[in-house]
Amino acid sequence: MRPLTASEIRSSFVNAGSIDPERIPLPGLHEMLWDEREFLGWRDGSTAHRGYIVFHADDGPIGIVLRAAANRLPGGAAMCSLCQTSQPAGQVRLFSAQRAGDAGDAGDSVGTYICSDLGCSTLIRMAPHGSPWDPNPEAVVVERAASLLRRLEAFTAKVLAPRN
Ligand SMILES: [Zn+2]
Repeated sequence: MRPLTASEIRSSFVNAGSIDPERIPLPGLHEMLWDEREFLGWRDGSTAHRGYIVFHADDGPIGIVLRAAANRLPGGAAMCSLCQTSQPAGQVRLFSAQRAGDAGDAGDSVGTYICSDLGCSTLIRMAPHGSPWDPNPEAVVVERAASLLRRLEAFTAKVLAPRN
């Protein structure tokens, strides 16, 4: 993805609600490997239940504030709805995003299961357990990256949808 500046990130949030974007702690942007990610995703070290996703939409950067459910998923395996990687249940969380605008003010939110560390971009670059990368690992990553962005855009559309 194209690199984002701190001010681009802070002005990108569409559903911050009562959260002051100026007070959101940002990850280290200088050491970020921008070429190896589809979105910037991070958890808030001081407010552990919060997470953030920022990506480039057609009209500019869009940021979404997420709230992680307190409960861990029960045992077994779980699948992230964005990268569609199956993992131990403890590594996937239910996150909810307050909807933008009036809908969010009225208490509406959208929930989905996402990798607990929001590190989907790392996962799609790893080969699934025990499966070879044949015939073309780069093409696999390109295809997974496109799917990941499509699913993120679909989730964002739900967050942005006007109140009905
Ligand atoms: Zn994921």
